[in-house]
Amino acid sequence: MSDWPSRDRDSVWHPFTAITHDSENIPIVRAEGVWLYAADGMRYMDAISSWWVNLHGHAHPYIAQRVAEQAATLEHVMFAGFTHQPAVELASRLLGHLPAQYSKVFYSDNGSTAVEVALKMAFQYWFNEDSPRKRVIALENAYHGDTFGAMAVGGRGVFTAPFDPFLFDVEFIPAPVPGMEQEAVSKLESLLSKGDVASFIFEPLVQGTAGMQVYSAEVLDTMLELCRQHGVLTIADEVMTGFGRTGTLFATDQCTHRPDLICLSKGITGGFLPMGVTICTDAIYKAFWLRDDAKGRMRTFLHGHSYTANPMACAAAVASLDLLEREGTWENISRIEARHQAFALEAVALNGVAAVRHKGVILAIEYHTPQHTGYFNSLRDRLYDHFMQRGIVLRPLGNIIYILPPYCITDQELDIIYQAIREFDHEEHQ
Ligand SMILES: *Cc1c(COP(=O)(O)O)cnc(C)c1O
Repeated sequence: MSDWPSRDRDSVWHPFTAITHDSENIPIVRAEGVWLYAADGMRYMDAISSWWVNLHGHAHPYIAQRVAEQAATLEHVMFAGFTHQPAVELASRLLGHLPAQYSKVFYSDNGSTAVEVALKMAFQYWFNEDSPRKRVIALENAYHGDTFGAMAVGGRGVFTAPFDPFLFDVEFIPAPVPGMEQEAVSKLESLLSKGDVASFIFEPLVQGTAGMQVYSAEVLDTMLELCRQHGVLTIADEVMTGFGRTGTLFATDQCTHRPDLICLSKGITGGFLPMGVTICTDAIYKAFWLRDDAKGRMRTFLHGHSYTANPMACAAAVASLDLLEREGTWENISRIEARHQAFALEAVALNGVAAVRHKGVILAIEYHTPQHTGYFNSLRDRLYDHFMQRGIVLRPLGNIIYILPPYCITDQELDIIYQAIREFDHEEHQ
């Protein structure tokens, strides 16, 4: 089908995409490093790692080879009653990067399912302990995915409006961003003291979809400690922050107190295949042991997906971990962090810029908006077009742009992005 690019709109419904008569999706035929190559010969720099999934560059030959080998050996087998080497290796290596209290890795398919699993594990933990709890605490403006449980613990807005009547009640507290620490902590404390709280879920250190809102490990530590004192389970949604984005392998590595459950996805396979995991402490796992009592088999976690622990996805994740464990990867992460830091100082002084935030390889620039702010505003479209015209993919979150690049991005490639940011300001304010 050589005319496929022109037939996209005849048959395909794209995610997060408004349906109009002139909506166009750019046909991509191949990718390498930070570059996406289009059917018309244009190339685009993937400055946001294709929605935050890519770690080491596109079509990385090492991961590609490992996936191909796995596909030709064992492509899939159901994961109840059977197991396989890539799943066992991945689980034990992930646990090897975490403190000893974590003991099990539960596989699923994406970030949303990793969150669903964590929420269900937390509720069922209390059910199994014969003290069911109903309440859940989350952060305002959180994003945890698009399935119903994940939507319920996310901030309500244009994304959830049609479904709000069907989402279970969640109590939201402000994110502890600079200036809001005190309020967030005291609101958390007062909700915890009322009892009946099953879990507290949060995006650690950086709230991604909220516009890369950064907060400190110190305040998160305080909040984790409060939850621990009240015996409330904590769920770190590291779907975006995992695998080096914040400068450490996991964002919660920067905390002294650790969450009870960790959700990972996005970068886990280096951006090759969909996969989610939920990692739990041994204390949680033990509550699911079959016992010879009235509850009996109801104590089992009766959850799974057809493609649970797909061997090709596991092989990609193991290969990505190999690359992450190389020193050169961490040198790149530090290099990107230092470049962002230096450019942040320059960017705050630009005319149109309201705020600059950075953490690890993430740099966010928030623009002043004359009109209403939010996801749908015309500045967003001007920003998107400005960068696309220069061959740079930066999908703004409303009036906020952010760079979240694959770790292989070079200094020269970073300069191309920084220069385009300068030019935007110059053109808007000349
Ligand atoms: C993207 C994201 C999710 C959802 O992951 P999907 O794979 O898109 O379902 C959940 N939590 C966070 C923090 C995310 O950034």
